[in-house]
Amino acid sequence: MIDRSRLADLLAGEERRFADTHPRSAELSAEASRSLLGGVPMPWMTRWPGSFPLFFETAAGARFTDVEGREYVDLCLGDTGAMTGHALPAVTEAVTARASTGITTMLPSTDAAWVGTELARRFGLPQWQMAMTATDANRFVLRFARKLTGRPRIAVMDWCYHGTVDETLAILGDDGTVVSRPGAMGPPVDVAVTTAVVPFNDPDALDRRLAQGDVAALLMEPALTNIGIVLPDEGYLAQVREITRRHGVLWVIDETHTLCAGPGGCTAAWALEPDFVVMGKPIGGGVPAAAYGASAEVAERLNVHMLGTEIDVAGVGGTLTGNALALAAVRATLSTTLREEDYAVAIPLAERFTAGVADVIARHDLPWHVQRLGCRAEYWFCPPPRNGADAAAAVDEDLDAFMHLWALNRGILLTPFHNMALFSPHHTEADVDLHTQVFGDAVQALLGD
Ligand code: PMP
Repeated sequence: MIDRSRLADLLAGEERRFADTHPRSAELSAEASRSLLGGVPMPWMTRWPGSFPLFFETAAGARFTDVEGREYVDLCLGDTGAMTGHALPAVTEAVTARASTGITTMLPSTDAAWVGTELARRFGLPQWQMAMTATDANRFVLRFARKLTGRPRIAVMDWCYHGTVDETLAILGDDGTVVSRPGAMGPPVDVAVTTAVVPFNDPDALDRRLAQGDVAALLMEPALTNIGIVLPDEGYLAQVREITRRHGVLWVIDETHTLCAGPGGCTAAWALEPDFVVMGKPIGGGVPAAAYGASAEVAERLNVHMLGTEIDVAGVGGTLTGNALALAAVRATLSTTLREEDYAVAIPLAERFTAGVADVIARHDLPWHVQRLGCRAEYWFCPPPRNGADAAAAVDEDLDAFMHLWALNRGILLTPFHNMALFSPHHTEADVDLHTQVFGDAVQALLGD
């Protein structure tokens, strides 16, 4: 349906417009290129639309201002790290107070128990530990799972993403074997040795694979959120629980993104019964912090190791992990945001976004769809897929680049490598309607109607 030469012309026009209107970012990018690999402090930042990244100056609530002084509606929110909104006064206050009274001692601080209690209340799992990032939390849980089960392998969903965790950077190859995910450079060992991969929404494939008896843990998101949004079929997650239990496999739910579903993620919203829950990104209101929780049964088994002389101070933990600054930030965040009343504002905005985008798609009879989970919504260039491979088959880099750059040039930041929009209580209906208008104009320009 898309005329590729028209798309290329439109994209080139947007590239020129971006370069012309962002001279200061271009300058900073050139300067950064002299000392930073790829001209950026972190590889993913090379993947923003435009021939150089936008440099930002300030961010507050649902908006940020770039170095030219242009303001944007932020629908990326740090790819969930700032899902609460930027620069929350309560977090700023707590972080400032903690920074002036000591940040890191490797001793527990007075916020520690409050944070554990609050996480237990929200997710329904009784025992918690901290990590710096969701990647770390996933890595630690996988080590614990191998220890508890004595099994070597972990299972993940095809086209999952759980951070830079080596074993999870795997997909199913065309012949059904396990292969490295595209772009996963330098794996320590062949992922076929460490990892079993099954398609999402396929309980039979999961059952068959786990029956082999070599899998310690199944690590999964309750809905895939890193290849568009793929929702679970009715009853699928109950089947996953039954299958994992029957095969003695620990079920780890990664709620890092699906916290968009509510204050206790999908685990609480859908009454799931995982053995472990992993949580990261937004819980520190932007300050790096993550956590993982264990069920009563698993916690009892783990405490034997935690409290014994065998305690793992090598593969689990980290010098700065659970530091006083992070705990103060988590306490300030969880006591003032990501609460029922915050979702009650953010979710209707995501619903409005979804309705607006769906209307444009329907009006132009495009074979695209828009999916929503809580306050997160995303459009994708195919009908709703049931698994990651179907979603991955519809990835369209050029179309993606165009939609993102068109939006950016008109004051809206979408999440890179996705078409994801995340809503906080700081967004407004006018922000949503601006996006709907801009999205509709992009489609019209593309189709030449
Ligand atoms: N889990 C999920 C579901 C994620 O999407 C991500 C990152 N996008 C992570 C874990 C890792 O988070 P981090 O990069 O903060 O470690």
